[in-house]
Amino acid sequence: MKHNIPIKRVEKSKVEELDFNNIPLGRTFTDHMFICDYENGQWNNPRVEPLHLIPTHPAAMALHYGQAIFEGMKATVDSEGIPMLFRPQKNAKRLNLSADRMGMPHFPEDLFVEGLKQLVAVEQSWIPPQEGSALYLRPFMYADEPFIGMRAATSFKFIIIASPSGPFFTKRIKLYAETKYIRAAEGGTGEAKAAGNYAAAIRPTELAKAKGYDQVLWLDAAEHKYIQEVGTMNIFFKIDGKFITPKRDGAILDGITRMSVIDLLRDKGYEVIERPITIDEISEASKKGTLEESFGTGTAVGIAYIQEIGFGDETIHVSDESPVGLDVNETLNGIKTGKIKDTFNWMVKIE
Ligand code: PMP
Repeated sequence: MKHNIPIKRVEKSKVEELDFNNIPLGRTFTDHMFICDYENGQWNNPRVEPLHLIPTHPAAMALHYGQAIFEGMKATVDSEGIPMLFRPQKNAKRLNLSADRMGMPHFPEDLFVEGLKQLVAVEQSWIPPQEGSALYLRPFMYADEPFIGMRAATSFKFIIIASPSGPFFTKRIKLYAETKYIRAAEGGTGEAKAAGNYAAAIRPTELAKAKGYDQVLWLDAAEHKYIQEVGTMNIFFKIDGKFITPKRDGAILDGITRMSVIDLLRDKGYEVIERPITIDEISEASKKGTLEESFGTGTAVGIAYIQEIGFGDETIHVSDESPVGLDVNETLNGIKTGKIKDTFNWMVKIE
């Protein structure tokens, strides 16, 4: 379906003010936003406008009851400067899965992709060209109906904003296996990208950082034994030549980098097994010397190499090098910048 998306442009772009060699993370926003309103049971008036504040009633339901979900994805340019999106249909589907769980309306998937395309086309000059850099895109939906009472809202906004992001340092990270706080439980909201999941993770992350760790390794709610994910990433371990990653069980996020890394690893000839993994199993593999490497996967950083895991009084040494992780990261970045052939048909060009 072709959507009519009117575009109102800024008079003067702020892109000249950006130092592309030194992009402050998550603080710079492009000139425009995509916005669409939900009222009377339907989405109306999709449009691209200059980025502006959104007037919010103090009783807006998202502020009180947390009906708010989001997505995270990136636009890159190929060697000819053509902007591309990485598997945007997957984000469109995941947003609607989150919407289902949180009692929110679906956003039409074709309009989601079309809105992204229109916004990115307008903001092309903001896409940093260096490998590992990208234009981060943040689609989100929230309840803006002013109402006090516990029920689904009847009016929502869907918005996409964009923020340029530079390459990440590939510093090896230390994880803190959290045994007091949890991120998600069976039947909870772990598989939804719901704002409240992130709110509840902030304090445990601060505590882990105060102990000298970089991220929280989330364990299951019932037994604090099974590994779920790390910070805002999914996790992979290489043990005895094979890769294992926690099986999706409704409590972990269905990461788009995760699903892509599974395909890439298999394509490179590795066996990848999705199954429950306990922290004790990782500790034993480390002691036996069969734990070869481990990394987190997510849109923001790509691949984050894991050095060690603090678990109670124990420090589980993972590895000082991640040759396969590094190789997979290079392949992913190569596909995203057109340097490596996109044999999986993941990239959606904006022409
Ligand atoms: N887990 C959580 C909790 C996340 O927030 C993210 C980031 N969206 C991921 C995993 C990785 O997902 P993706 O690869 O789609 O970015």
